[in-house]
Amino acid sequence: MKTDYLIVGAGVSGLTAALTIKSVHADANITLLDAASEPGGLLRSVGFDEHPSLHFDLGTHIPELTSNQALNALVFPEEVIKHWQRLSELKVGNFFNGQLNQQSQFLNVSKDESIFCQALVELLQTQPSEMADYLNLEEFLIARYGQALTQQVFKPLIFKMTAVELKELVPQTINFYGLARIALGNRQIGLNLKQIPHLDQALAFNQDSERPRQSTWVYPGEQGVGEWVKTLYQQCLDKNVKFEFNQRLEQTVKLRDGYEIRLISGDQITADKLIWTLPFYTGLSGGQQTRFVSRSIAIYHFTSQYAPNTACHYIYCQQAAFHSYRLTFYDNVAPKNATQPYRTTVEVIYDGEKPEPKIIQQELVEMGLFSSPESIQVAGITTVPYGFPVPVVAQQQIQHSLFKEVAIQNPDVVFTGRGKPGLFFTTDVLLDVYQQTSKLASVKGG
Ligand SMILES: Cc1cc2nc3c(=O)[nH]c(=O)nc-3n(C[C@H](O)[C@H](O)[C@H](O)COP(=O)(O)OP(=O)(O)OC[C@H]3O[C@@H](n4cnc5c(N)ncnc54)[C@H](O)[C@@H]3O)c2cc1C
Repeated sequence: MKTDYLIVGAGVSGLTAALTIKSVHADANITLLDAASEPGGLLRSVGFDEHPSLHFDLGTHIPELTSNQALNALVFPEEVIKHWQRLSELKVGNFFNGQLNQQSQFLNVSKDESIFCQALVELLQTQPSEMADYLNLEEFLIARYGQALTQQVFKPLIFKMTAVELKELVPQTINFYGLARIALGNRQIGLNLKQIPHLDQALAFNQDSERPRQSTWVYPGEQGVGEWVKTLYQQCLDKNVKFEFNQRLEQTVKLRDGYEIRLISGDQITADKLIWTLPFYTGLSGGQQTRFVSRSIAIYHFTSQYAPNTACHYIYCQQAAFHSYRLTFYDNVAPKNATQPYRTTVEVIYDGEKPEPKIIQQELVEMGLFSSPESIQVAGITTVPYGFPVPVVAQQQIQHSLFKEVAIQNPDVVFTGRGKPGLFFTTDVLLDVYQQTSKLASVKGG
């Protein structure tokens, strides 16, 4: 088989890449290859036998319109999203130190006076700090917040998420897990401290609604985020993009002009251009089987006849002793159908054996979100093995040099999506895919 563009991976990156190329070359021949039997990658919605019409997402996936209007027109076409729920703010809460805070995703340490006083003194002694200047997360956090917050607040929470000590992690780790800032003191103390420029970067508003941020989030409604993927897939099919599912790539061979791709099935594809969206490089010249530290995610989907005791769209559970990490309340994101139960999804990051669902049900009750474990039923559990990257300092250097080597040996391959080190969040992924593939398609002969 011969194709102009072969895109490896039919997740949201691969689908966006195909639509971007088609927007430049309507008659381009494009093939997407995926090991799975359907498109979407991590952005899928699942249903379960007992409730086939109820959909749950693999984690919190509330897509945000990007800053690029041309890209939005491709992946969020108005005729599609006009039927969707549109949100001008995300209501995010947190559970920390036994308290449910529905005003902010960022935890507030003021309730614990022993930490608060020391944290405030230390914070006032800090100097401006740039993440890029620090070798590891511990050094960065001490410079930004001081010892008390680093050791007593961040350390146990980051360990819960990563199972790795602060000094082993890269500073950027703090941008995951809802811990990028912290609120300190009451509203007025917080606002006063935020007048100091370098503290402004470290501290959160006490209420998220005070944060000056203009954005729009969209959500397809009852069918879950998987509906978004389906519309992208359908658009690709309408534009004659071809899909090869249940296919794994064994090897790529660089030709004088393009690539020959050998599949494990024995089939071969020749392609003029290759776009790579996988977070590993097996099959590419210089690519090797390397497994970087990552943790599995167990995603517990629950139903209840009772509404959860929150208006938040999602909540971070910042209680070190709890397994729950992030909770999504679908019926607060988009109104539910009157005959259907309420739906909640809880993500748990783990290694080895995942916790029993009854432990998670009990945590939901202890967080004050439901009245009893019996009021919540398990609809199903999905797992994403090795789904959450743990950015360990020592490995990041290896990962970067491996990427560099693979990029040198495959100079014409476009790496994007989760195939590019450092890209994880969907908006960043979309922007990178769009930028790279529109450039590729625009070059002469592209
Ligand atoms: C639990 C969880 C929660 C998340 N929450 C958020 C969030 O709140 N906000 C946010 O912005 N982002 C979030 N993300 C990240 C988000 O899911 C990614 O940004 C997005 O899915 C990246 O899309 P992608 O297409 O690059 O990669 P993927 O979705 O990983 O798609 C890669 C594709 O490659 C295919 N593939 C894998 N191996 C092979 C192979 N050997 N051969 C061929 N094909 C293969 C897969 O089947 C898949 O279809 C979350 C991720 C997880 C795991």
